[in-house]
Amino acid sequence: MTNDEGLLRTLLASTRETVLVTDGEGRIVLVSNGFAETTGLPAEDLAGAPIERLGRVDGLPAAADLVRGALQDGASRIGPVALPGLAGPWELAASPVARDGRAQACLAVLRTAESGSARREGFDALTGLPNRHLFGDRVEQALHNARRSGKSVAVMLIGIDRFSDINDVLGRQDGDRVLVGVTERLRQCVRTSDTVARLESDRFAFVMQISAIDDSVLLTEKVLRAFEQPVSLGEQRDVAVTGSVGVSIFPADGETTDELIRNAAVALHHAQQGGRHRSQFFSGEMNARARHRLEVESGIRRGLANREFLVYYQPKVDVNSRRVAGMEALVRWRDPQRGLVAPGEFIPVAEESGLIEQIGQWVLEETCAQNRRWQDEGLPPVRASVNVSARQFRNRNFVAIVEEVLARTGLAPRWLELEITESMLMGDIGAIVARMEDLRRVGVSLSIDDFGTGYSSLSYLSRFPITTLKIDRAFITDVQSNPHTAEIARAIIGLSRGLNLEVVAEGAEVKEQVEFLQAHGCELVQGFYYSRPLPAEEFAAMLRDGPRPA
Ligand code: C2E
Ligand code: MG
Ligand code: MG
Repeated sequence: MTNDEGLLRTLLASTRETVLVTDGEGRIVLVSNGFAETTGLPAEDLAGAPIERLGRVDGLPAAADLVRGALQDGASRIGPVALPGLAGPWELAASPVARDGRAQACLAVLRTAESGSARREGFDALTGLPNRHLFGDRVEQALHNARRSGKSVAVMLIGIDRFSDINDVLGRQDGDRVLVGVTERLRQCVRTSDTVARLESDRFAFVMQISAIDDSVLLTEKVLRAFEQPVSLGEQRDVAVTGSVGVSIFPADGETTDELIRNAAVALHHAQQGGRHRSQFFSGEMNARARHRLEVESGIRRGLANREFLVYYQPKVDVNSRRVAGMEALVRWRDPQRGLVAPGEFIPVAEESGLIEQIGQWVLEETCAQNRRWQDEGLPPVRASVNVSARQFRNRNFVAIVEEVLARTGLAPRWLELEITESMLMGDIGAIVARMEDLRRVGVSLSIDDFGTGYSSLSYLSRFPITTLKIDRAFITDVQSNPHTAEIARAIIGLSRGLNLEVVAEGAEVKEQVEFLQAHGCELVQGFYYSRPLPAEEFAAMLRDGPRPA
């Protein structure tokens, strides 16, 4: 080493600038004091180590990638990096030194992005988030993808309520801390692949591809919740802030980036005018849906906690003997405000929100326990059918749950039937068959509900270990008026015979329909003709005395 080199080394090592030098292989040969201090990595640990050692600090793996990239290409690289606990944004500039076309060394400088080029590249200086310009590009990109895939895109603007008051009262510095705190919260609301941006002072934005409109409803809820905890201003001070959300959806609310951002801003304005800390969709229809969905979802949660759900039972009647041969458990919700609510009104929301698993398990338990009680009371034993939703069926623990409920309630498995729908039979046929076989081994029956409305392949039907087909109500309703429908009903009855399956007709309301079914060999009928679904006590009476109509 010459004297000059030694001097240079000492200079670099002692400077407070945050610099680091590697050799051509990416091994760290020199670290400045400033670099060690800023990253919190001791200089002794870094000297001689591969550049990847920087990865011990969250946010710095990016730095190692930049250095490797620069060494490989022999060209400078600059990119954003994060330093935990230090207000950003930071960037790292990696400049390789090449001799004879080969990189011999690399100088890496860590600096705040204000002093570098990140601002020009589209990042906001305070928060490190993409700025309005870059956000526009990201929306453009999302729209491009969505047009090809036929999906929807949600553009969401988030405003901090009364931000100018916060700035006036607390001062700019604390105002900035609020913005940085809010940035952290918002980042946690989205997948890393979704863009969070800062458009202007207190305006943040998201763009995301959505497959169902309700995805965006869920996200607005999450964002509003993110504002529920106060933001820390350091030194044990914190401040409560709220935010409002405005959403526009492609393609319904606009075709272009500008239109969508503008309409989301209109929605945000309405949300802030309308009382703050709320979300608003651009279209009235979406608003109504979002509000309704939220009400139903929180209602279901409350209903589960307050035991507002109950089970009605509808008999399956043997048309020849007129005896009750089985029953279907149908859930009802006694909402204190709305009264008795039918499943069609809340099952779809329960399915989307995942609450169906809790409801379904409760119905299963309640039905098994009730059925066992009736048997203990000496009523004629009958099999109870319980509807199973796709989510429950796909749950890996489903078979264990069924076994456990049977054991706990003391109901013998032969008195339980599970109803699944045709749509649940698509996908990985092998896995579905295996799950069904496990259930059959437990000893319960399996039926396919609403048969004829889905698209199940008849060739697969024989592979599923099912016991019963339930002909959908639509075919029964039209049996007298439409010869084609009558033909389908007849064919399904014939098919079940051929496959040795029990067949049940749903929804027979009048005598002629029952006679048609009887004439064509369908012996089990579930329909208003015999009885509507009944509360437990009334159903017990019917079990004892038989169905009413003559
Ligand atoms: P589903 O399983 O096909 O149940 C039969 C539906 O047809 C019931 O509606 C029943 O009241 C109705 N029905 C029976 N006979 C007649 C008739 O003669 N005429 C007419 N117009 N309707 C008749 P409900 O109770 O409103 O249930 C609707 C659907 O909600 C059920 O269709 C089922 O898919 C779902 N569901 C009900 N309870 C549960 C549950 O505990 N879990 C799950 N996952 N879904 C459930
Ligand atoms: Mg059913
Ligand atoms: Mg059905």
